[in-house]
Amino acid sequence: MSIFASLLRRQVRTYSTRPIVVSGPSGSGKSTLLTKLFAEYPEKFGFSVSHTTRQPRSGEIPGKSYHFIDREKMEEEIRKEKFIEHAEFSGNLYGTSLDSIQEVLKSGKLCVLDIDMQGVKSVKKSNLNARFVFISPPSLESLEKRLRARGTENESSLKSRLDAAGGELDYAKLPGSHDIIIVNDELDTAYSKLKEFVFTDDSSTKH
Ligand code: ADP
Ligand code: 5GP
Repeated sequence: MSIFASLLRRQVRTYSTRPIVVSGPSGSGKSTLLTKLFAEYPEKFGFSVSHTTRQPRSGEIPGKSYHFIDREKMEEEIRKEKFIEHAEFSGNLYGTSLDSIQEVLKSGKLCVLDIDMQGVKSVKKSNLNARFVFISPPSLESLEKRLRARGTENESSLKSRLDAAGGELDYAKLPGSHDIIIVNDELDTAYSKLKEFVFTDDSSTKH
């Protein structure tokens, strides 16, 4: 039995214990929705804190939002196989370490990952047996507006995020790429749909 399977078996099975992978274009509202979920259910869900080589944004907490790391060190850790998946996104490295997943599983909480499409594809090949949620913006125009309004990007990083959004949206159209697609138009409606999905007991489907 894999290390993940044995840790998952220890969780109380009142709802699906399969990890939940949330993906979607940058700016589609993943962090906003997950922040609400973690605030409402702090004991039920645990965030898999990724590593990234990008600079912290104002308000981000090292070790909580991300493990911020320099490229050289991250490349070394990738070589040492510390990551279950990693990807280059918008000029920076991002990755999910084995340790970050295990930390959540050991706490007995349901593990939630926020990763890009490349990460989704890698996780599907792993033994994590995750469920996949895609958060879609209502349109590319509203995505751009939201990203601009967030005030975190310069023109170049904004452009690369919008370019990547096209690929994410195309991938989401492929049958079976995700278990649910939630259009984040009105926030409370999208949040209700997310909650409905995460509390559905679906322990069997294997990707
Ligand atoms: P992501 O984590 O997917 O990159 P964020 O959660 O940071 O996206 O959301 C991008 C921006 O859009 C943020 O400024 C957020 O406040 C805003 N936002 C999120 N959801 C909505 C919504 N339903 N309606 C309007 N603005 C939203
Ligand atoms: P941001 O810089 O906006 O926080 O994240 C940019 C993109 O990287 C988002 O699509 C986010 O989901 C993705 N991302 C964050 N952490 C990881 C990770 O560990 N692995 C992968 N593959 N993508 C990640």
